[in-house]
Amino acid sequence: MNISFISTGTELLKGSAVNTNLRCFGSALAAEGIPLHQEIACGDKKQEIAEALSCALKSSDILLVSGGLGPTSDDITLETVARFFGLELHQDPELTLKIENFWKALGRTMACPKSQFKQAMLPDQGRAIPNPRGSASGIDISVSYGGRERRVFLVPGPPSEFEPMIAESIIPEILKIVPDHLETIGFLCAGVGESTVAKTLEKPVTAAGVEIAYCADASGTRVFLSAGDHEKLLHADKMAHELIGEAAMPDGILDPVSRSIQLLERLGFKLVTAESCTGGMIGNMFTERSGVSSVYAGGAVTYSNELKHIVLGVPQEVLDTCGAVSEECARAMVSGAITNLKGDAAVAVTGIAGPGGGTPEKPVGLVYVAAAVNGEIQTLKLNLRGGRTMIRQRAAAQALILLNRMLEKL
Ligand code: ATP
Ligand code: MG
Repeated sequence: MNISFISTGTELLKGSAVNTNLRCFGSALAAEGIPLHQEIACGDKKQEIAEALSCALKSSDILLVSGGLGPTSDDITLETVARFFGLELHQDPELTLKIENFWKALGRTMACPKSQFKQAMLPDQGRAIPNPRGSASGIDISVSYGGRERRVFLVPGPPSEFEPMIAESIIPEILKIVPDHLETIGFLCAGVGESTVAKTLEKPVTAAGVEIAYCADASGTRVFLSAGDHEKLLHADKMAHELIGEAAMPDGILDPVSRSIQLLERLGFKLVTAESCTGGMIGNMFTERSGVSSVYAGGAVTYSNELKHIVLGVPQEVLDTCGAVSEECARAMVSGAITNLKGDAAVAVTGIAGPGGGTPEKPVGLVYVAAAVNGEIQTLKLNLRGGRTMIRQRAAAQALILLNRMLEKL
């Protein structure tokens, strides 16, 4: 039973909005071991939406359509879908009340305009999917098309409404319709490239009757194992961890920050960061998650030599003789972070992210990372490839991987 996703929105085609709804839906399905068969992006035009519907229905029995459920004249998804399947629309009394209350809660004094009630329309054979975060509800339609029963879910486009509706309503509903879905386990192989992971795992895992998928990023390779049989999956998971060794993170850990948080929490440690070429990227990786104040105290972005000296106490002599991009400097930065920023653990990064600034002795991509825990300091010299962003992302990830390795030993 295939599932297709239609994203409506001319802004997606123009590239002025990134299709994060696809990432959300695709990964939510993948986490349940259900593949997304196809995605079609189309503009906010009746003809284009109808074309996308007939194309998706050729191969899929379950459709998810996002966007165009709002009150304005360019919001035409519901009427287009209803016309396509020949369904009548009627104004639902409960949704009408919800919209009136939503309008009042916004503190507006004028009466709720008629245009808002467009969001109270439901098709025959349709039910509303609750949306506490916005005025437009989702809509769940069961309809016969081409001699088969189909399910069509319409979901509001704003990611702040789309994402919780997928998790709370759509995935549970899909799990009822697709009962024999696969179970999936995912974990990160920290700092290991995709081809190494594939070479090590592909044959033994598939021989054990388990599907394997990979996704490489700056921090290594995320591995997803899927099977219909729980015992087979656990066996392949254990084997994969043994084959990869210590670079294989525990199940469910898909990035180095999650692992750092887990380890710092376990040890009751607070991390501090000292960043030069990553410019606060590591701090951002922590602070974009809520509730990290128990493990992350903060950090210093010390891009200039002067700030490395003033804030972190990097000796002037180290800067003059070894330079800012050196093992000695990384060591002094991490040690200064522990002392001056008062952390139990620290990481530091200094390097040349490029594209300019490289020399034959210190080329672009040369980065030193350091980590300090319990009075011990370890450093790593990296020769990273890629553009500026990739080099910075890889440096940030490697600093945390080094930290995690030290924390794991405690
Ligand atoms: P609204 O009531 O806000 O109009 P809607 O259901 O009509 O909601 P749209 O008008 O299609 O949704 O989109 C609303 C906002 O959500 C826009 O800013 C749009 O860029 C964003 N958006 C829509 N689809 C996506 C998507 N697939 N990925 C990311 N953002 C999206
Ligand atoms: Mg809209």
